[in-house]
Amino acid sequence: MKHKILILDRFHETGLKILRNQPNLDITHQVSPELNTNQNYEHDILITRSRTKINSRLLELLPNLKLVISVTSGFDHIDLNAIKAHKLQVEYCPEANADSAAELAWGLLLSTTRNIPQAHTQVTKGLWRNEHLIGRTLKDSTLLIIGFGRIGKRVANFAHAFGLKIIVCDPYVENLPSWADAVTLEEGLKNCDIVSLHVPKTNKTFHLLHADNLSLLSPHAILINTSRGDVVEEKALLHALASKSIRAAGLDVFAKEPLAENSMYFELKNVVLSPHAGAFTEDAYKLGAIQCAEKVLAFLKGEPASHPLPPQTAWVNDLDTLP
Ligand code: NAD
Repeated sequence: MKHKILILDRFHETGLKILRNQPNLDITHQVSPELNTNQNYEHDILITRSRTKINSRLLELLPNLKLVISVTSGFDHIDLNAIKAHKLQVEYCPEANADSAAELAWGLLLSTTRNIPQAHTQVTKGLWRNEHLIGRTLKDSTLLIIGFGRIGKRVANFAHAFGLKIIVCDPYVENLPSWADAVTLEEGLKNCDIVSLHVPKTNKTFHLLHADNLSLLSPHAILINTSRGDVVEEKALLHALASKSIRAAGLDVFAKEPLAENSMYFELKNVVLSPHAGAFTEDAYKLGAIQCAEKVLAFLKGEPASHPLPPQTAWVNDLDTLP
């Protein structure tokens, strides 16, 4: 029997080649992430990225579906209750973009501590250094990492190499490297110079940082968020930045994406913004497509899923759906 695969959104040629080499696969690749709601699709395998919201409405258009693979490490675009109701196997690809996401977080951290985008703009305007560009040296600063998973660990390794002191808030992780210390969220926020967020979006991490605990940060503190916009209460963050109760923020993710034309962030000089670009490298796309193709082949051979959803993690009970 031929399996029919529907691939939505960007998918690297290398992964397509692996799939096209299989004689029993009929592949449709559509660059648009949307399905035509007036059409019924016969496919039994669906491959998507985060621009396709996987919910009951979408699943009803695909009555033969057996397997969904999201080529992403976040999965908050997938309604796990709908997946459960349709008895589907779902996988994600959390290993594929961990390096690129960690590197972007580090890039935002360096850009923010040294005002690199502002310096560039100033130089292109024919201006030279002034006191607005004075940054801070990272060595001996304290970095709080919230969420010590794939990406948080990588960022911690960069920080260790730069000579920072590293403190970690992750109630689900027992073993830390000898050079990192576990802290509670409150202790961490009180004692850090920089905080970087690497948690998934769950019931417990929604607005994990809010007006009250953001006020524990010192006025020279810098916040980096490459996790999910909703992990920080945006109104409170905007207020903290505008009132300079914290020094600056480097942000890749926002409560609503893309940002509105009149976003308050555009009024602020103490932010460095990127367009949810953590996974936006050629290498991450390629690796994601290869890992996804390998998951399809494993599924066809009847092998167990390597990264099933809901995830097999200690924090699974913080999600809306129980396994
Ligand atoms: P991961 O699952 O490997 O690690 C998440 C860590 O967060 C785990 O160690 C977990 O114990 C911890 N955690 C869970 N709940 C927590 C809580 N309440 N308090 C503190 N720690 C908690 O995930 P990852 O691959 O490191 O990715 C982290 C998140 O980064 C993803 O869920 C995704 O939302 C985001 N991400 C963003 C981009 C981007 O383009 N900006 C790219 C990749 C991933």
